[in-house]
Amino acid sequence: MNKRSVRDLDVGGKRVLVRVDFNVPVKNGQVTDDTRIRRALPTIRHLLENGARPVLISHRGRPKGEPDPKYAMDPVAKRLEELLGVPVLKLDAAVGQEVEEALKNRNAEGGVVLLENSRFYPGETKNAPEFAEQLATLADLYVDDAFGAAHRAHATTVGVAERLPAAAGLLMEDEIDYLDKVLLNPERPFVAILGGAKVSDKLGVIESLLSVADTLLIGGAMCFTFFKAQGFEVGKSLVEDEYVEEAGRLMNEAGEGLVLPVDIVVAKRMEETASAKVVRVGEIPENTMGLDIGPETVERFGEHIMGARTVFWNGPMGVFEIDAFARGTEGVARAVAGSGATSIVGGGDSVAAVSKLGLEEAMSYISTGGGASLEYVEGKELPGIAVLPNKEDA
Ligand code: ADP
Ligand code: MG
Repeated sequence: MNKRSVRDLDVGGKRVLVRVDFNVPVKNGQVTDDTRIRRALPTIRHLLENGARPVLISHRGRPKGEPDPKYAMDPVAKRLEELLGVPVLKLDAAVGQEVEEALKNRNAEGGVVLLENSRFYPGETKNAPEFAEQLATLADLYVDDAFGAAHRAHATTVGVAERLPAAAGLLMEDEIDYLDKVLLNPERPFVAILGGAKVSDKLGVIESLLSVADTLLIGGAMCFTFFKAQGFEVGKSLVEDEYVEEAGRLMNEAGEGLVLPVDIVVAKRMEETASAKVVRVGEIPENTMGLDIGPETVERFGEHIMGARTVFWNGPMGVFEIDAFARGTEGVARAVAGSGATSIVGGGDSVAAVSKLGLEEAMSYISTGGGASLEYVEGKELPGIAVLPNKEDA
């Protein structure tokens, strides 16, 4: 990574505003998945060990620019304190007089401060100068560790970075390094696997992966748009008609580099109790929909994956939330886990599938950025990264 890192900063005695991605699910006042909190710990610990006073800020959920108790950061503070083993002072605001007072009265041994949800303020998503200015007055330095929010030009990701000496956190650094490893200098063969719901979400990603990967395996709902482009009957499967032509073009250009399923699990309804059966591609009955890749496809995809030295995976192969349609995703996950390749998994649902299978440890890297990692793979410049100074400017 050529961005300035938190390790390049002299943080001793400094107040450091850290943008973290604590956008975690909460149920009955408890954090139900603390992955993102755990992934932020190295940066927080680095700061504490070097005598800094960290002040953390994140958004959570989609409150509408005003306080909403449902999205308060209190459950996050509680979990963070348990994981960190250091006191966490949670404030009920993110900026303003009270926050400034609370921060002023703290010494370096006081642990960390967690500010209230940044999206309780309308200036956050608008990247309003006044809000960014208020945030900047809270600290001496700014560290961005929220890769998952880097594709948004908000006050806590961009505005404040323009107003304070800024650097990337350790998680941000890891995310960029792993994705660059895949995109810029992959060990070959490089096999990419794409699935999930929509072609339209991922057209740019398909195009980008086709240019860098040796083979692109496509499953999930998006394969039906490709089948339609080949003139196959797809029944009631999810198809995006406006992208059929584009899918046809991509297939022609890619040739053997793009590999589609040969068999499909179909059912009349998207329900556990719907009787599922396996059919050949091209023989999908009109009154059924394709909900997973079939066993022969799992085997063929598995052969490609086993021969790979690098694997990038985004998007489940089927409706993995329902057991009857989870086997394709499971088969692919097990192949990736057993391949010995450098494996990178990105995307909210793909990561959920891997963790449901208990295979997180078997992957080389799990990206915390859903949308952000896809935009990165597409080759888009993420505003939260672009705004950080390069190493040589440091
Ligand atoms: P990610 O979050 O990993 O990027 P997406 O959000 O693109 O993945 O897609 C995940 C969703 O796609 C899952 O909810 C899954 O049920 C759905 N999906 C996968 N295959 C199919 C299919 N054949 N038909 C309908 N939905 C599907
Ligand atoms: Mg998703």
